Amino acid sequence: MVAAPRALAGKTGGVLLAKCPDVEITGTTQHDAWQARALPPVEQLRADLWSIPVPIPDNPLRYVSVHAFALDGGGLGLLDTGWGSDESWAALTSGLTSIGAGIDEVRGVLVTHLHFDHLGLASRVREASGAWIAMHPADAGAVARLTAAGAQAMVTAEVDFLVGLGADRGEAVSDVGPPERMESFTSMAVADRLLEDGEHADFPGWRMRAVHTPGHTPGHLCFAEEQTRLFFSGDHVLPRISPNISTGHAGSADPLRNYLDSLAVVRDLDPAEVLPAHEWRFRGLDARVDALTAHHEQRLIELLTAIRTHPGSTPWELAAHLTWSRPWEQYERRMRIFAVTETDAHLRLLASRGLVIGSGGPVPTWTVSVR
Ligand SMILES: [Zn+2]
Repeated sequence: MVAAPRALAGKTGGVLLAKCPDVEITGTTQHDAWQARALPPVEQLRADLWSIPVPIPDNPLRYVSVHAFALDGGGLGLLDTGWGSDESWAALTSGLTSIGAGIDEVRGVLVTHLHFDHLGLASRVREASGAWIAMHPADAGAVARLTAAGAQAMVTAEVDFLVGLGADRGEAVSDVGPPERMESFTSMAVADRLLEDGEHADFPGWRMRAVHTPGHTPGHLCFAEEQTRLFFSGDHVLPRISPNISTGHAGSADPLRNYLDSLAVVRDLDPAEVLPAHEWRFRGLDARVDALTAHHEQRLIELLTAIRTHPGSTPWELAAHLTWSRPWEQYERRMRIFAVTETDAHLRLLASRGLVIGSGGPVPTWTVSVR
């Protein structure tokens, strides 16, 4: 149920979409900061709601927006927590101080999904405050299994998975890297509360309805706040980039189909504003969903064309025939795993649509279906 571990490293994707005229930037301060390559300020969005940018070290996404809610009866609720590092912890705690609150006042933490930039600080928040942590059962279970399996098992499973996609074993081993690099991802907080689709989070004074949106991870949650009509989109819908959708050794069989279905689920919610976990707030969820859907359909056509030109190829080989943001020869390590597992996600959707057929066996190759 876990996405490929490199996705656990919080890299959400790097595909820039064409400008979308029907998407209106409402987080103009966030957007201005982005252009200036600066961290945006803590912002008060409503009388009882704030966004706190928490930096992600050495990552092109730069920061995750933690949302802090004042709760009826006192105390705070957080949505997401930030990357598990001292620098991020300092930003979160000083952000809370700047709004006149303290980490010890946190009563509950909602986590959109299991990636390290969202869940990474949750255990530290829980230790400091006694807060509960809530996630969707699919991601909560994945975290528990990762923790039980440990870093070495995670590395072995990922290497085997990549070999099954056509990687040379030596290259897969070097791309995945040593288990030491995985250790923080196998010791994250295990949620103590579960939230299913349609349930309301225990944030007194708010009506935060969980919307299960599998795709980026199997248990990704968005939250629709029913009084303010604010929509907290996590990594499911971002204003600038397309979130990474890829296969993994313990992930969904068809994550791109899940993702496109999840886009359709949120398309017509017509929120007053979208508050994503990265980049900036915006209006125009339907237009943004349409652009993301069109991007993947375009990518599916490109892949189908590559398979027609290079029949009998593995996902590893096919990735080299697609266009990427830089020359394929420069791809290595996590970037390459990223690209290959994303290609594999597109392949699986083409297969489930009956457009391509796999050879079977330990390292399947792919050919266009004859119909
Ligand atoms: Zn993220």
